[in-house]
Amino acid sequence: MKPVRVRVSLPAPSEFRFFSSIQSFQEIPVPAPPSKFCSQCGAPVTRRIPAGEDREREVCPVCNFIHYRNPIPVVGCVPEYKGRILLCRRAIHPRLGYWTVPAGFMELDETLEEAALRETREEACAEVRLGELFSIVDVPRAGQVHFFFRAEVVNGQFEPGVESLDVRLFAPDEIPFDSIAFRSGVIALRRYLEGPEKGLVLDAVRPGAPD
Ligand SMILES: [Zn+2]
Repeated sequence: MKPVRVRVSLPAPSEFRFFSSIQSFQEIPVPAPPSKFCSQCGAPVTRRIPAGEDREREVCPVCNFIHYRNPIPVVGCVPEYKGRILLCRRAIHPRLGYWTVPAGFMELDETLEEAALRETREEACAEVRLGELFSIVDVPRAGQVHFFFRAEVVNGQFEPGVESLDVRLFAPDEIPFDSIAFRSGVIALRRYLEGPEKGLVLDAVRPGAPD
C-alpha cells in the first residue's frame, strides 16, 4: 500500500532558526513510565526489591508477578546513493522537523536487518542493500541501544513516508548536523563519514557528555 503523504506547514529546511525555539525540548525520549497495574491480574503494583535481586522493580502484591523493564533496540541505517547520504525530516514527535537517518524501534519477530529495511521503507519509501553493522550507540538514560548499518539505496528512488516531511540526499559537507534529531544519529553519521576502516564502533550517549 502506498503511504499517505502528510502535509504539514513548516519552515523550509534552510529556516532552522525556527527550531532554535524548541532546542530545550528533551532531546532523548525517556523510557515509558512503568505500568501502575499488573499486566497479569490488573491489581495495582508496588515497587520493591524482589527476593534474590539487587534493584527495585514493579511487583504485583496479589499474584507476585515481577514486571521487568529492559532496554529497547532501535535500528537504522545510513543509506548512501552516489556519494550522498539520505536523510528524512521527521513528521512526528519527538523532534518533529529535525533530520534523521531512517531508524526506529525494533518489532517482535524481527531481526536487526529486517528492522533496518522496514524502517527505511516506512520513512523514506526506499529499498536499500544493507552493508556492515558499523555503529552501536548505548543510550542508557533512554533505556535504548541504537544499531546502525551501512546501506546503499538500490535504485535511487525515494520519497517521504508517512513519518517524514521530506527525504533528501545530502553531500557529506551538506549534512545539517545542527538539525539532526538525536545525538545517536549525529554519532552514527560522524562514524559513517570516518570511513569503514574502524569496523564496528561502540559509543554511548550520556547526560551532559559532548558528542
Ligand atoms: Zn498480578
